[in-house]
Amino acid sequence: MSFTSRVKAELGSLDLAARCCVTAELGGMILGASVLTLSGRRQISLGFRTESAAVLRRALRLFNAAGPAASRPRLMLRERMAGRREYVLQLSDADSHRLLREQGMLRRDETGEDRFAAPRRVMRRNCCRRAYLRGAFMACGYIADPRRRYHVEWVCHDHPRAMRLKRVLAQVGLRAGLSARRGSALVTLKDGDQVAELLKMMGASLAVLSMENIRAEKSLKERANRAVNCDQANLGRQLAAAARQIEAIEAISRERGLSFLPPGLESLARLRLSQPDATLEQLGQQLSPPLSKSGVQHQMRRLIALAGEAALHESGRPDR
Ligand SMILES: [Zn+2]
Repeated sequence: MSFTSRVKAELGSLDLAARCCVTAELGGMILGASVLTLSGRRQISLGFRTESAAVLRRALRLFNAAGPAASRPRLMLRERMAGRREYVLQLSDADSHRLLREQGMLRRDETGEDRFAAPRRVMRRNCCRRAYLRGAFMACGYIADPRRRYHVEWVCHDHPRAMRLKRVLAQVGLRAGLSARRGSALVTLKDGDQVAELLKMMGASLAVLSMENIRAEKSLKERANRAVNCDQANLGRQLAAAARQIEAIEAISRERGLSFLPPGLESLARLRLSQPDATLEQLGQQLSPPLSKSGVQHQMRRLIALAGEAALHESGRPDR
């Protein structure tokens, strides 16, 4: 089951809230999935199209809660490509008129004909805005699996609808982006916090929980990765330093012989040659008397300087 289907199933099973919110949620659904057809004079048919049985049931419950129906809605099941099914819920002319008028989406013009219009009413209550967003998400929303990325999008029929959705999102503090894809207008949210906030607002508590778990897991993994990378960088630096030390010691050995070195340095040089992977602390502990890390570091710098002098001496090229 995709994350989108899980969220829609959860939203679909929520209890219906106050009457004001039922209207708002229907408004969101109408924004998202409506198939509006004006056939003949004043004939209007409002339809909801969805692939989710949970959303279909929700639409029916909302429709029944919105007032006495003039007639039973028609229900159709369509087989689409690749075995996908689509449910279509088609409302009668009378019920379509009633619902659209309630949404402020029908206006009578001077000739006495009903025309579609953008809903005039501004939602003042937060409960209704949340219900509206819930309806719109169920109708045309998509959420990516948070394991892969944080991304929510609504595929709207046209630009004015996308604008309206964006405005409602802004009213609850979510900053959505607008774009277009194959003739549809897209509204998108891409930030992890915003996606979690949207789920919370719509009432998808289970989805919020699972998303928070995933986010915690992710940040743990990122921290662990950073630690590993950091260890690897340290190890790399340490090995590179050891290689430089060994090169210097070999140069001295070649040019002058290690016995040329003062006894303390000579034993450190021999120790390093025998243990190329050892850390400076590990080398220091094996010296007598033992040396601290910084003590060993200091001696190594002396070795490298001496190697430079030895090479200079031998090649007789003071400019090198
Ligand atoms: Zn409300």
